[in-house]
Amino acid sequence: MRLVIAQMKHETNTFSPVPTPLARFARGATEPLEGGAVREAFKGTGTAIGAFIELADKAGAEAVYPVAGNAAPSAPVDAAAYEWMAGRIVDAVAKGCDAVLLDLHGAMVTRAHDDGEGELLERIRRVAPEVPVGVALDMHTNLFPAMGQLATVIAGYQTYPHVDMYETGVRAARPIFSLLNRESRPTMCFGHRPMLPHVMRQSSLDAPNREIQARAKQMEQQGALAASFFVGFPHADIPYAGSSAVVVTDGDAGKARALCDELLDMAWQSRKEFVYRVEPLQESLRRAKSLGAGLLRPVVLLDHYDNCASGGTMDTMAVLGGILDAGLEDVAAFAVCDPQAVEQMKRAGVGARVTLPLGGKMAMPALGLKGRPREVSGNVRRIVSGLYRNEGPMARGELDDMGLAAVLDTGNVEIAVISRHVEPHDIAAFRVLGIDPQKKRYLMLKSRVHWRAGLGSIARAVIECAGEGVCTSDYSTLQFRRVRRPVYPLDPA
Ligand SMILES: [Zn+2]
Repeated sequence: MRLVIAQMKHETNTFSPVPTPLARFARGATEPLEGGAVREAFKGTGTAIGAFIELADKAGAEAVYPVAGNAAPSAPVDAAAYEWMAGRIVDAVAKGCDAVLLDLHGAMVTRAHDDGEGELLERIRRVAPEVPVGVALDMHTNLFPAMGQLATVIAGYQTYPHVDMYETGVRAARPIFSLLNRESRPTMCFGHRPMLPHVMRQSSLDAPNREIQARAKQMEQQGALAASFFVGFPHADIPYAGSSAVVVTDGDAGKARALCDELLDMAWQSRKEFVYRVEPLQESLRRAKSLGAGLLRPVVLLDHYDNCASGGTMDTMAVLGGILDAGLEDVAAFAVCDPQAVEQMKRAGVGARVTLPLGGKMAMPALGLKGRPREVSGNVRRIVSGLYRNEGPMARGELDDMGLAAVLDTGNVEIAVISRHVEPHDIAAFRVLGIDPQKKRYLMLKSRVHWRAGLGSIARAVIECAGEGVCTSDYSTLQFRRVRRPVYPLDPA
């Protein structure tokens, strides 16, 4: 048995000014991994491709690994980067194989294609019309019809924070192996509801998504080969942004259709619960100040408009500036992505006192905003290389890379200043900087939901702070021109 196993992941925020060249798909390198290096990097990790590798080994299959690339969310993918990765995958399939297992995101937009994953599947089908293709997708998939029509099996994450990447890989691959062994005939149905669930209301730890995902899991326990509800990624002005579902059964198309519709109806009926209400920043900071005194564990201040894992520039200073102005004490902030500031601190050296324009280096034309740096003074506490391995539960064992990084200590606030985008979802991101987040009174995190994976258990309270950024939680500031209409809540229903 010969398998092609590959990863090509990007969640595209079409409002983001952050470029997406090939290097963004690499960790600690300039090009994504290829060949045996993929196997070495991902075997034993809590990722979908990690599951593919283990299942292929167990089946005694011969596998080739044309590419593994995973970029932090940002603007549409550069055409050359897409061709580099898609070209390698299609070439490997064209050489002949019994099945293809793909670890994709599902919300990739490129400079040439609204549907990066559907385009990849179309190219694969041109060279291998019949080969079984199993696809693992992120819960933030924006499902275009081509994906549902051309894949053999699709399975999506059932958790947000995404702590079931490995299990999703197993759910996508198992039906493919059973098909190859002639033990089942996977039959897949997909569908949509015209709604854009708000990211701040999408966590599977809370209603209504908790109940929808629980029902999807139950469908699998009751015999469906895979059942997935996708909340979708709303910061993409493309026709199929929003929620969808895919269900795979063993040869029963009618049942797949009914189960798929059931998941979609659950979502549509709870559409009002998926709407988020914004609190003004000054009100949030006032609450933070009154909550902070006398606590043993930190209050988390979420800068959710500027999450790099949703395409944010990770350098807006509205929330951090508000924290500095409010005089909050004993704060750790993760992070401001500002390679220039890191260089300046490196030149000054550990222990030096510096005053520098921090953040605000990137303009955000989609919001009509210029970058607004803030002058900050402090001591350079630490300079580190910024490579670290996730401890989990999210992406356990996977290498992450914040680039050259420094800690700027203002006295009240220890600010992590980094050179590459990483979302703080793992305690290792703090450890590598020599910060113990549990001992802080406040943690400012540029994150929305994923921080709960590795840091949720240490938070005494959470305050959502409305700052600035291209993953704004105020959708009325985004200009949607291409998403299919009507779509709730942009249009009432
Ligand atoms: Zn996601």
